Amino acid sequence: MKLALIGIGQAGGKVVDAIVDYERRTNTGFVVDAIAVNTARSDLRGLRNIPESRQVLVGLTRVKGHGVGADNELGAEVTAEDVGEVLSMVDDLPVHEIDAFLVVAGLGGGTGSGGAPVVARELKHIYTEPVYGLGVLPARDEGGIYTLNAARSFQTFVREVDNLIVFDNDAWRKTGESLEAGYGSINAELARRLGVLFSAGEGDGSGAVAESVVDASEIINTLASGGISTIGYASVELDRPKRGLLSRLSGGAADAEDGGDSTNRITSLVRRAALGRLTLPCEISGAERGLVVVAGPPDVLSRRGIERARTWLEDETGTMEIRGGDYPVGSNFVAAVVLLSGVYDVPRVKELQAVAIETQRDMLAKRESSAASLDDLISTGDDRIEPLF
Ligand code: GDP
Repeated sequence: MKLALIGIGQAGGKVVDAIVDYERRTNTGFVVDAIAVNTARSDLRGLRNIPESRQVLVGLTRVKGHGVGADNELGAEVTAEDVGEVLSMVDDLPVHEIDAFLVVAGLGGGTGSGGAPVVARELKHIYTEPVYGLGVLPARDEGGIYTLNAARSFQTFVREVDNLIVFDNDAWRKTGESLEAGYGSINAELARRLGVLFSAGEGDGSGAVAESVVDASEIINTLASGGISTIGYASVELDRPKRGLLSRLSGGAADAEDGGDSTNRITSLVRRAALGRLTLPCEISGAERGLVVVAGPPDVLSRRGIERARTWLEDETGTMEIRGGDYPVGSNFVAAVVLLSGVYDVPRVKELQAVAIETQRDMLAKRESSAASLDDLISTGDDRIEPLF
C-alpha cells in the first residue's frame, strides 16, 4: 500500500523519519513521500530522512520558529493559519500514486497535538484517498498537562481521520534508558510494525509472489470500521542456514514439505502477536475488524497456518471480518502482524480521560485562586497606595 506520510511536531517528525528509514533499509517502496511540519526550527533540523525541501515551518510570525511550548490550542491555531503551505507541498506529491495519507503526531505536546487534527481535516476535505492518523499517547509519568493535551487531541483527531492507529508510549517505555535512546528504539519498533503491515502487497524487491496477497484494498477495508486501531507483532528467527534467492522464489510448498511445522509456527506467531504487547493495549474481543499479515520466506509461509490463525482470531475477537494473507520476503525471519480495528474496550483511554478531567479541574481552580491571591497581595486595604497610571 502506497502512503504519503505527514509528521507533525517533534514526535510526528521523528516517527515518520523512522518509518522512512525502515522503508529504505528494507527496499519496500511503500512510502511515496514524507513531509514534516513543525513550529520549532530546531526539531526539523534533527530529521535525517526528510530533506529540507519536504519540511514546513508553520507559525513563524507568531512563535518565531521556537515552538508552541506544549500549548496545543496555539499549535492548532498556527497550523490552521499556515495550513495552505502544508497543502501546497502535498499538492506537489504524485497523489495519483498514493493509496492513503498517514498523519503522525505525539498527542501530549503542542504542535502535533493541535496541528495533526487540523491537517487531517483539510486533507479529508480536498482528497478522496483515506486519511489515517497515528497518534502517540504520552507515558503516565509525563504529567497532567501532557495527559490533558492528549485527551483533548485524541477526541478531536479521531473525528477528523478515517481511522486512528494509537501507540501508547507508556506500554513501551523501558527503564534505565535515556529518553532519547528510549524513543529511538520505540520509534524503530513502531516503524517495523507499520512497515510490515503497509508494505505487504508491495513486495521486497526480491520478485517473490504471495499466495494470498494482502493488497491495499484489504488494509483499507480493515481500517474502514473507523474509530481506533491497535497493532500486534511477533517474529521468530528460522533455525536454518540462510537460503539463496532461488529456493526462496520456489516457495509455496510449506504445508506439504514439513509435516505441519510451518502451520504450527504461524498459528503460534499470530497468537503471540494478538495476545502480546499491542501498540495500544486493549481487550481484543469485540474488535470490529482484523487483518493478519504473515511475512517470511515463501517456503515456510503455510497457507493452512494463516487460515487457522484467521479462524483463531475470529473466535478470539468474535468478528467474522478477519482478513489475512502472506507477504513473501527474502529473510531468515517469519513475522506476524495483527491489525485490530474498531476496538472499544480500552482501559488506558478511560484512565487518560479521568486524569485529564482532574487536571482540567485543578487548573481552573488554581487559576481562580491565583487571581484572588494576587488581588490580596497587591491590595493595601484601606491605606490605599495610588498606582502610577
Ligand atoms: P510537539 O513538538 O509540540 O508536537 O511535541 P512533542 O512531539 O515533542 O511531544 C509530544 C509527546 O510525544 C511527548 O509528550 C511524548 O509523549 C511524545 N514523544 C516525543 N518524542 C517522541 C518520539 O521520538 N517517539 C515517541 N514514540 N514519542 C515521542
